[in-house]
This record gives sequence, C-alpha cells and structure tokens, in this order.
Amino acid sequence: MKTRELTAADVDLFERAKDLLQRAHHPELHQVAAAVQTARGSVFLGLHMGSRRINICAESSALANAQMANDTQIVSMVAVCKNEEGRIVVTNPCGFCRELMGTYCQDAEVIVDVRGTPQVVASRDLMPLPWMFPQENDWSVSDPQNPTVSNP
Ligand SMILES: [Zn+2]
Repeated sequence: MKTRELTAADVDLFERAKDLLQRAHHPELHQVAAAVQTARGSVFLGLHMGSRRINICAESSALANAQMANDTQIVSMVAVCKNEEGRIVVTNPCGFCRELMGTYCQDAEVIVDVRGTPQVVASRDLMPLPWMFPQENDWSVSDPQNPTVSNP
C-alpha cells in the first residue's frame, strides 16, 4: 500500500477532530471523533455515538454532515481516539467505514496509523476488494473446482 507523510493541511484536519474529541469525549458514549475536508475547503466533523448495545462510528456522521451540506467531494478524512495513556491519536477506520468510504469518498485520502506513525493512504486502498452482488462481478467461471468458461 502506498503511503505518504502528513502535510500541514493533514495535521490541521487531525487537530479539528482532536479538538472535538477533547470537548466531547465520553468513555462509553463518544470514544471517537472524525473530520472530513471537502474540495471547497470546508471541514465537517463527526462523533461516535455509543449506547449499551450499539456503536455508530464517527466517520459516518462526518460524511453525513457533508452530505447534508451538499458539499460532497471529500478530499481527506481522519478519525481520532484516546490511547491507553489518554493521548488523542489517529485511529484506523473499521470495515463498515471503509465500505462507506468506498461509496461516499473513494477518491479521498485517509490519515491512518501505520504501526504508530500517522500516514496518508488512498481511501480505495483500504478496501481493495469491496463486497458486490454476483451480477456485478466479472466472473465467467461457474464452478471454481472445474474452471471452464461458462459465460463467454
Ligand atoms: Zn467505523
């Protein structure tokens, strides 16, 4: 996976998410904050919403806030959480969020934690093989045990 170092703009986006989490953090209800930057230069924030049985990721509300503002060309995004020492750090998007990113911002860049170092990666690299309906794929082999072309 291709990565790059953070720019000043990436650090600013991280700081926006960090500011939100500093204000809103709750150990069960609000564990993660997210920020998305649009091509117009706007930043939309999102907050993890937790309850006893359900956790809704911060990235989803950040993406929803951009959608509601009709500012939908996301160019970069980040999510942050508190580590074991209570310091706010970059956290990587879960599988659900990676799928959302494939729908709402597949051309965006995402700040991720690469073994303790913040790096920037392409959104599409985080979900290289997304789920799809059988009719959406290019398979032409009906029996993987007997790989003959059945749909020329
Ligand atoms: Zn998630």
